[in-house]
Amino acid sequence: MTEIRKRVLLAKPRGYCAGVDRAVQTVEEALKLYGPPIYVRKQIVHNKHVVSTLEAKGAIFVEENAEVPEGAIVIFSAHGVAPEVYEQAKTRSLKAIDATCPLVTKVHHEAKRFAADDYDILLIGHEGHEEVIGTAGEAPAHVQLVDGPEGADSVTVRDPSKVVWLSQTTLSVDETMETVARLKQRLPLLQSPPSDDICYATQNRQHVVKEIAPQCDVVIVVGSRNSSNSVRLVEVALDAGARAGHLVDYAHEIADQWLEGATTVGVTSGASVPDELVMQVLEHLAARGFADVAEVTTADERLTFSLPQELKREMKAAAAARAQEAKELVTDQLG
Ligand code: SF4
Repeated sequence: MTEIRKRVLLAKPRGYCAGVDRAVQTVEEALKLYGPPIYVRKQIVHNKHVVSTLEAKGAIFVEENAEVPEGAIVIFSAHGVAPEVYEQAKTRSLKAIDATCPLVTKVHHEAKRFAADDYDILLIGHEGHEEVIGTAGEAPAHVQLVDGPEGADSVTVRDPSKVVWLSQTTLSVDETMETVARLKQRLPLLQSPPSDDICYATQNRQHVVKEIAPQCDVVIVVGSRNSSNSVRLVEVALDAGARAGHLVDYAHEIADQWLEGATTVGVTSGASVPDELVMQVLEHLAARGFADVAEVTTADERLTFSLPQELKREMKAAAAARAQEAKELVTDQLG
């Protein structure tokens, strides 16, 4: 009897995006520069492993500024914050470092600009998500949240000719377009954002999953349950034809029953997931006969973001101080 060839289709791009990479580096560099503890408001990125690794290095994750001792350093997460959070930090004399992803900041700017022009803003996103709270907080009097296509039916606006939609950066592209189409049935003059709000990383990870899903018996997405873009990847895989889809934080969570009768397993990861976790999933699958791995690439990502200005400035000052100290030491020794 011929043995059935088992294989893995590994999606690329997957894992860390430029915004997550910058946010994680921000905490790591702050720990090096100031020493622990460094306070971080909310999870820096929505990934269990990343958070516990940074905790082990001395980061303390809190929910609100009120939990941070007066005068201490606090880092704001990649998901962004409302202006009132900066105000609270000032009141408590906290030294704030803002690790908000520049692509989230772009949506904040759009919200501010349309609010200044007195538009009604329909923000498509998930209720309670930190990013949505932050963006809505830029213009609370102008923003209405639309949580999925059903949410479109209850929207009311002051002037149907002055209304724009914006969105959370990590949504399903297809579901968002469905929501927009439904909004447009009621508001034909609804304007679109000046550029895509759903970010390149979210779009690219969904695109490659759509490519592999139709060939997969099961798609395993590495990511945490509170990671919006990771959860969307499972939904996208199922919509695109995968017979099953599962989200796991770690390889050991993969149940052997998921693989029973499967010949092709798709593997990808959310934008906040370090690749070492994906490699562990590949090892786990290889041990169960899925050693043949083919990487399917649909985009080449090269975008990087520089660290927050406020941190870069202090890193530079610290480096200059160290150089000066070294110079003085040499002068002393020679003298
Ligand atoms: S998923 Fe997109 S918006 Fe979010 S941090 Fe990454 S690049 Fe930025």
